[in-house]
Amino acid sequence: MRYQRSSALFAEAKKYIPGGVNSPVRAFKAVGGEPIFIKEAKGAYLYDADDNQYIDYISSWGPLLFGHAHEPVIKAVIEKAKKGTSFGIPTEIETELAKLATTMVPNIDKIRFVNSGTEACMSAVRLARGYTGKDKIIKFAGCYHGHSDAFLIQAGSGAVTFGSPNSPGVTQGTAKDTLLAEYNDLEGLKALVKANQGELAAIILEPIAGNMGCIIPSDEFIHGLRELCTQEGILLLFDEVMTGFRLAKGGAQEVLGVDADIVMFGKVIGGGLPVGAFAARSEIMAHLAPDGPVYQAGTLSGNPLAMSAGLAMLTEIDQHPEVFESLAQKTAHLHKGIADVLNAKGIPHQINRFGSMISVHFCEEAVIDFTSSAKGNNDTFKHYFHGMLDQGIYLPPSAFESYFLNDAISDADLDRTIEAVKSIF
Ligand SMILES: *Cc1c(COP(=O)(O)O)cnc(C)c1O
Repeated sequence: MRYQRSSALFAEAKKYIPGGVNSPVRAFKAVGGEPIFIKEAKGAYLYDADDNQYIDYISSWGPLLFGHAHEPVIKAVIEKAKKGTSFGIPTEIETELAKLATTMVPNIDKIRFVNSGTEACMSAVRLARGYTGKDKIIKFAGCYHGHSDAFLIQAGSGAVTFGSPNSPGVTQGTAKDTLLAEYNDLEGLKALVKANQGELAAIILEPIAGNMGCIIPSDEFIHGLRELCTQEGILLLFDEVMTGFRLAKGGAQEVLGVDADIVMFGKVIGGGLPVGAFAARSEIMAHLAPDGPVYQAGTLSGNPLAMSAGLAMLTEIDQHPEVFESLAQKTAHLHKGIADVLNAKGIPHQINRFGSMISVHFCEEAVIDFTSSAKGNNDTFKHYFHGMLDQGIYLPPSAFESYFLNDAISDADLDRTIEAVKSIF
């Protein structure tokens, strides 16, 4: 029994933890079956409780750019831990990480550290509202900005003009201030802005989406969006929790050539420990407590342990920027290999890719927004996911997720992965 010990651990976990997991996507609900339990990981490989090895294509959902247990990060964390993990009093390392991050991302002057991407996005919206004095925000269907109430709004009937909560527990009062637009639809967005003129604090998006598969914004859409925000006095919020320090030193802002007003980070900036952050030019950040009236705080925010992992990670990236080209090449190799197999077998598919992000959709039409992403054949996806898992390849257990490559993955690993795809179909 390949998954015997994982299965027993899952049964035990379910007794004490809702669904046996601390974040729902881990539970395999979208693909069926039971999750594997990880014992340890090194480089490109995960090892489960039954001692099976997997090539990891999720990299802890993004943070581990260089692979698991990357030496400089682990060393920094161990050294720091010996000196105490949290004080609730300022430390020098917070400034070091802030200085490095604001140097790598040119258009931000100041940055505030929090403990997750959710917290970063939630706080950024509060800051945007406090700065503009407006209440409403626009988000795009299929973009994920963490699990705070204002963002748990999905497309539903009539939802474009009046947000409808898609999770019980989100009040109508909260939902009505979150308006929904379709990704890559500039005309639809303009109409929505016009209908709410003078009431909008912010437009928030994943500048390259990774939570409905990987979706790339058209030039017209992303530049039009920037122009629209400037014209209307709306703050443009880039959720770079996934793309920040993953696509380039300057993240999606750099690769797209678009400056946002507030930028949110997470994942890579914590090097595998819980860190989030939001940043902007000084004039906007001056509205944040204790300089300004917009309140935001955190007992463990900027703790030295988390900062040491983040600092080691960003230092590695700063000193080895060639990692981005290496990752892009590996991802392109994977793209070509999978496409060749699926084409040869006549299986309808779309593959989207940007840098180290890639997603495979089993559908006929181009995937450019949530609606087209949702058209994928989920039976084929399940078959594919489990077929890969059984051959030691760990893919995201949902058709709505992008893969996030890490640079420890070798060409041989990629070729093994492509061979595995061949054997499934
Ligand atoms: C992961 C993610 C978040 C949420 O971050 P958490 O640390 O899980 O709270 C927000 N936005 C994007 C784009 C993400 O990928």
